[in-house]
Amino acid sequence: MAKVLEHLAKADEKPIFSIEIIPPAKGGKIDELLADIEPMMELKPPFIDVTFHREEYISVAGPDGSLKEIKTRKRPGTVGLCSAIMHKFKIDPVPHVLCGGTTKEETEDLLIDLNYLGIKNVMALRGDHAKPFNSFKPFKDGHAYANELIGQIKDMNNGKYLHEDSEYLSKSDFCIGAAAYPEKHFEAENAEIDFQNLKNKVDAGAEYLVTQMFFDNQKYFDFVKKCRAHDINVPIIPGLKILSTKKQLDILPKIFFLDMPEDFKKMVQEAKDDKAARQIGIEWAIEQCKQLIQFRVPALHFYTMSKSTTTMAVAKAVF
Ligand code: FAD
Repeated sequence: MAKVLEHLAKADEKPIFSIEIIPPAKGGKIDELLADIEPMMELKPPFIDVTFHREEYISVAGPDGSLKEIKTRKRPGTVGLCSAIMHKFKIDPVPHVLCGGTTKEETEDLLIDLNYLGIKNVMALRGDHAKPFNSFKPFKDGHAYANELIGQIKDMNNGKYLHEDSEYLSKSDFCIGAAAYPEKHFEAENAEIDFQNLKNKVDAGAEYLVTQMFFDNQKYFDFVKKCRAHDINVPIIPGLKILSTKKQLDILPKIFFLDMPEDFKKMVQEAKDDKAARQIGIEWAIEQCKQLIQFRVPALHFYTMSKSTTTMAVAKAVF
């Protein structure tokens, strides 16, 4: 198994094809998910990101009718799925690890499991607020920002565990990725502050960045230029989402705080149905990829939602 940075170093003139998948909803079967993503293995992605979904809180009526807040998980964790990917496809999984909904001790336990399995990469994220709340609150014994989580992972890489620092403890050797936002993270007061916070993540030990999805390549090109001006010199992998329904034109900007280019918007609005919108989404993404390849990006990273059809339509046209 290898680190993402090692895979990127091996890329030739063409960037690497990589994907992000999400674990199935509660009750889903791992075999079904592996079958869904199998068609994408034809393009041999050297690594696959696996998202992590934090707990949610719901109100449940007790026997006396009073409401009680219950913690629930909608999707399983990453350990089992990452292990299955590694063994079935011989591909490096990149589990996402969050600050949200977890203590530092629980994070250490998760990292110990991942290290024990031979997983070489992690994507370190803060995560969003727990539903139904509307702001992020770290656990009392958790991390507030991704740079702190990166610090913990880096410590483990140096053999420094939370409550033990002994020469007899083995060091982990994770390659650490972090998230970046070409259109600014929605909570940051301004872009400059966001760049400073991004630099903190890199200074803490993030070795590469993966961007939030964007539909306007110019935003990515400007972002990379500004990162370099802020002395952020690690590889910046563009994250790509292929629009597949008309509704996503409204939903994606609201969820991910991004702007849709006007000409793209107009084409999708005029599409007669979802099938036509999907075709426009595919063609737009192919053009995005072609430009990004010319810009010599290290990888093209697709947010697949564990579905292969649209991703394969785009990837086959550009790889
Ligand atoms: P941070 O880097 O901690 O930044 C969060 C905000 O705080 C930013 O506004 C930043 O400017 C600010 N900030 C950072 N450090 C400081 C500081 N020290 N002091 C003050 N302000 C600070 N979410 C999931 O739940 N599961 C996933 O698997 C997942 N995968 C993702 C993968 C990618 C590639 C991306 C781009 C996002 C992903 N997300 C995921 C969403 C992500 O968790 C959210 O966008 C979250 O709101 C921010 O996470 P972050 O790691 O970028 O946070």
